[in-house]
Amino acid sequence: MPSEFNLIREFFTPPNSRPDVRLGVGDDAALLAPAAGKDVALTIDTLAAGTHFAADAPADAVGHKCLAVSLSDLAAMGAAPAWVTLALTMPRVERAWVEAFCGGFYALARRFNVQLVGGDLSRGALSVTVQAAGLVDAGRGLRRDGACAGEEVYVSGVLGDAALGLERGGEFRRALHWPQPRVELGLALAGVAGACIDVSDGLLADLGHVLRCSGVGAEVMRGALPLSAAYREILAETGWTAALAGGDDYELCFTAHPKRRTDVAALAAELKIPLTRIGAVTQGRGLRLLDENGDVLPVARAGYEHFS
Ligand code: ADP
Ligand code: MG
Repeated sequence: MPSEFNLIREFFTPPNSRPDVRLGVGDDAALLAPAAGKDVALTIDTLAAGTHFAADAPADAVGHKCLAVSLSDLAAMGAAPAWVTLALTMPRVERAWVEAFCGGFYALARRFNVQLVGGDLSRGALSVTVQAAGLVDAGRGLRRDGACAGEEVYVSGVLGDAALGLERGGEFRRALHWPQPRVELGLALAGVAGACIDVSDGLLADLGHVLRCSGVGAEVMRGALPLSAAYREILAETGWTAALAGGDDYELCFTAHPKRRTDVAALAAELKIPLTRIGAVTQGRGLRLLDENGDVLPVARAGYEHFS
């Protein structure tokens, strides 16, 4: 890429805002100094045009979302986001696109005091890879394998709007393009949640990961799933599939002991995020989905595509 150096200098060399960054962009690698007593949570995700976002998606939304999905992973681990690297592959350099991309990216980075410390630029089909690192008290990271029978299952926010954004556009598009990582919630769940995961591939699939990792099962009440007012309006016509199996929600799904109910309610009030109890962890393996009458709904093993 001919103007690589200038592009890095102009767009990807942000002023440093963190004392634990000894050396950021500009050398062969960043030098980072995690505080003593912390574990580093590390995650990486690629968003490819045509697969994870439309090639004509607004660039600021792409910049926002590529960071948001990584921060969501850190939130699910209960980690405070700290450092991020960014590998950007573009067919050609379009200044306006890069500028808008950076607008979305840095706005979110600033909100959570995340420092861009390195990256890469290359030419090719449009694709963005973000690696993010966060800090969590040693041994206290929230994991998928911590769910116990007797705990209850919660989910933050509302489910399904992002999938509806992909399917129908309109007012749902915002949820698809501008997911809000639940960073503060993840941090607050340390000591409250048994297990935690972020809902990126659909509730049933992601809760399924928690259950498998923890060696337990769950009963989920479909009627308890939190839906937006706009989703509720079209529920009869569109069905539950988006809420159960739609991706890209980036809400947190976690388990907590019933004695934590008041703590969870207090958290919801403090953070102004709905935290909805949707079911319970059970001893037997597998996920049982119950309808509004308490009858068991079939949950297809291979994929969760069809729920109406
Ligand atoms: P190298 O050849 O050592 O990999 P590069 O020329 O790729 O170096 O990058 C020079 C510096 O700019 C490195 O510190 C790298 O981390 C940083 N950098 C490159 N691209 C980006 C980017 N998109 N965002 C942030 N930093 C970047
Ligand atoms: Mg390089």
